[in-house]
Amino acid sequence: MTDCCIIGGGIIGLSIARELADRGLSVRVLARDATRDTASWAAAGIFPPAPDFAAASANERLTAYSDRLHRTWAEELRSETGIDNELGQCGGLHLARDDRGTSRLHEAAVAWRAKGTRCEQLTARDVAAQEPALRAAVEQGRIESGLLLPEEMRIRPPRHLEALHQSCRMRGVEITSSANVRAIDVANGTIEGIRIARGEGGTATDTVRADRYCLAAGAWSGHLAESLGLHIETRPIRGQIALLRLPEQVLTRVVNVGLEYLVPRSDGRLLVGSTIEDAGFEKITVPQTIQRLLEFAHALLGPLPDAAIEQSWAGLRPGSVDGLPFLGATQACSNAFVAAGHFRAGLHQSTGTAVMLADLMTGRTPALDPAPFAPGRRPDAASPDSVQAYLARAAEASS
Ligand SMILES: Cc1cc2nc3c(=O)[nH]c(=O)nc-3n(C[C@H](O)[C@H](O)[C@H](O)COP(=O)(O)OP(=O)(O)OC[C@H]3O[C@@H](n4cnc5c(N)ncnc54)[C@H](O)[C@@H]3O)c2cc1C
Repeated sequence: MTDCCIIGGGIIGLSIARELADRGLSVRVLARDATRDTASWAAAGIFPPAPDFAAASANERLTAYSDRLHRTWAEELRSETGIDNELGQCGGLHLARDDRGTSRLHEAAVAWRAKGTRCEQLTARDVAAQEPALRAAVEQGRIESGLLLPEEMRIRPPRHLEALHQSCRMRGVEITSSANVRAIDVANGTIEGIRIARGEGGTATDTVRADRYCLAAGAWSGHLAESLGLHIETRPIRGQIALLRLPEQVLTRVVNVGLEYLVPRSDGRLLVGSTIEDAGFEKITVPQTIQRLLEFAHALLGPLPDAAIEQSWAGLRPGSVDGLPFLGATQACSNAFVAAGHFRAGLHQSTGTAVMLADLMTGRTPALDPAPFAPGRRPDAASPDSVQAYLARAAEASS
């Protein structure tokens, strides 16, 4: 019998599988959707600075821990698979359009400095000097000020996922694609098996058995967790992105304005994102929204006549009520674990999540205290990281 079965082949499921296999366990991953249909593939790949400081919140500690691990994982993945996930410290420029934005950047600068993070407050002229492609927007009065975070990083999610896939396979992980988990059979407080429908039509069914199971099905986890006697909300929060191909790259850093951003890729592509939408499980792009994102890019960079829209896509972030992922053992089922609800930070927090879950699933004490992430906790909906808080910010920005 397989030691561990992971439900979900996104960044969280694959990272946990890799870590468990690395510890000598046999692992099987069940993934319903193609990789490019996951939130993980859809992500922008922005990693804000992640300092480790005394007063850090649980979420900040998990991000800082994961951030350190990412550097090692990127090296390992490159040497194992030859794939470069392009993790690198490119720096992030945060811009304000008006006085209110400038005072928000000022507050952000105070907060970053208190955490020991390097940051530099910029005038509009400084912004143009840092990123010449923004000069016209500065001259037209569209940018009032800026904040430079030199430690902001970026990663290329599709490459990271491809590297993880290969690394998992090299470690003997069995990845079953088109495996739709239909039911989880529980008896006497343990999972006895997982029933999957396979293939396009989903007519053939199989039962998968393992010693331990981990539910890592992103936004779909809440529904599946009900079979485990667990109520966790992993609300789908849609994000839409447009990808432009430019004749040559015009930016060096990630440019952020409120919740929207431009992410330059080394091959000349420019990612324009994103939205924060409560639209259920409708993973679609809306032409007017993509148009609005393009207008956002043009307002900063000018008309870009030689740019081509290469593609656009949408992904469903798994939002948890308090913005903290649900990580750990379930109370009702002795062999069931959960790793879901990473909302806007799943890429960044994937490595720390993987090590913590592998520790918990193998009976080791994790380096990071898992208690704040306990799946059975009572979430604090008033947290500033909550889904509701982000939906309110997104609504305010678009009004
Ligand atoms: C537009 C956008 C931008 C983002 N930008 C960033 C960013 O810059 N930085 C960052 O850190 N994070 C970012 N995120 C968030 C990040 O993408 C998510 O937090 C993360 O991908 C969640 O990973 P996951 O593995 O939990 O879920 P997913 O990637 O959605 O994977 C879920 C997996 O579960 C499987 N599954 C679901 N139901 C079933 C079932 N019944 N049976 C079998 N398998 C099932 C799916 O097929 C899939 O394989 C962004 C997200 C979006 C949408």
